Amino acid sequence: MAGGWARDGAVQDQIDDTISDAVSAARSRMPQGESAQYCDECGEPIPEKRRKALPGVRRCVECQSGKDAFVRHTAYNRRGSKDSQLR
Ligand SMILES: [Zn+2]
Repeated sequence: MAGGWARDGAVQDQIDDTISDAVSAARSRMPQGESAQYCDECGEPIPEKRRKALPGVRRCVECQSGKDAFVRHTAYNRRGSKDSQLR
């Protein structure tokens, strides 16, 4: 029901345009395909070998491994403090 002010289908056309815009915007943000030339974290150039090995990579080796270590560390700590609370 378009209310009589617009031709049938005009509103739906507009919605479809909005959706396809959103999809292409989301696709351009996806961390795949193009690898970053420079690290998102520290701005250091990412070696081409790494960019080819990991399509869509956004961080240099140091930043990525630092992040992984941080994740492991906090996960370990969370488990540890929970255990000590239970005892
Ligand atoms: Zn970095």
